[in-house]
Amino acid sequence: MLLFTPGPTPVPQNVRNAMADETMHHRTPEFEAIFEKTRKHLFNLFGTDEVIMLASSGTGAMESAVTNLCHNTLLNVNSGKFGERFGKIALAHGLGSVEIKNEWDTAVSVEAVVEAIKNNSDIDAIAVQISESAGGLRHPVEALAKAIKEINPNIMIIADGITAVGVEKIDVTNIDCLIAGSQKALMLPPGLAILGLSNAAIEKIGSGKGYYFNLATEIKNQRKNTTAWTAATTLTIGLLEILETIEKDGGLEKLYKDTETRAQAVNSALVAIGLHIYPKTPAQSMTTVDDEDASKIRKILEKEFSVNVAGGQDHLNGKIFRINQMGLIPNYEMAWVVNAVELALSRLGRRVYDGTANRIFNEITFNKEA
Ligand SMILES: *Cc1c(COP(=O)(O)O)cnc(C)c1O
Repeated sequence: MLLFTPGPTPVPQNVRNAMADETMHHRTPEFEAIFEKTRKHLFNLFGTDEVIMLASSGTGAMESAVTNLCHNTLLNVNSGKFGERFGKIALAHGLGSVEIKNEWDTAVSVEAVVEAIKNNSDIDAIAVQISESAGGLRHPVEALAKAIKEINPNIMIIADGITAVGVEKIDVTNIDCLIAGSQKALMLPPGLAILGLSNAAIEKIGSGKGYYFNLATEIKNQRKNTTAWTAATTLTIGLLEILETIEKDGGLEKLYKDTETRAQAVNSALVAIGLHIYPKTPAQSMTTVDDEDASKIRKILEKEFSVNVAGGQDHLNGKIFRINQMGLIPNYEMAWVVNAVELALSRLGRRVYDGTANRIFNEITFNKEA
């Protein structure tokens, strides 16, 4: 079965092998050397002043970002389940909460964010997804971060890049906290989260908030290549392996370029066979199609063609399907996926199969070199 859900994503064989050794003790020079090398790679990937690894799923990093960087009121952007989560975290911690809500296919506008912060001087942090995975939507994070900083540089910009870090180059000039998770673009099993922090964020964190998720405690330890609590040693070893693999495969620029080309090729292929891309501003992390037969298409893809794609949640349950674009994906696998989608439409009697999806995908992917 081909796993094509936008998280979890498949773990490459060499990464699985690297994680198959005996458990290493975390308070040893051997592990500290691995931690140090991993940190170096992460600085390159994030481009931020500091990076912190946490043994938690992505939501733990979201929670630690909110509690450590928001001391008054959080403005959160809700165009889907993950954006909504930031608001719930703020409320769970007794913080003030202001939300800008849109349909899941609609990105937040810079104007709406500017208006919100002008109307409420209690807002001291904003949290937004770069790629909102619920509908495969790209928010204009860099532009809104710039606009906010021009009005009030003290407002912290928390960017959830769980399906963006490792997908595309992110301009972190005005971002104070950039979040990633292991099981999406980083092609690892779930359980590790990473935060990139600006110097302004570190200043605001001060002595930190909370206990396990106190970022001041982690910053102090991780600068010495160790962790406050037991490190996720196996996942850290896997992370170093995948970051070295990306480097050997041509580096981040090549990864970003390949992802961009593939996402464009898949979107064009699916539009050519009559399908509709759901988000008005699609993220490169996934291809999201809204279709009344979404559930049937997913079932056929799985049963007949061994392709596992994701559906939708909440009100989009049964209304969309999402094809992963994150990671080192072989073109021959993706060619099969778009072909299988066309075959599924023909099974449903919606078109006569003629290989259009495959042709378009191959033309965009390979013909540029011909
Ligand atoms: C998956 C995801 C999360 C949540 O991460 P967990 O690892 O499930 O806690 C948060 N934000 C986005 C955009 C995601 O795609």
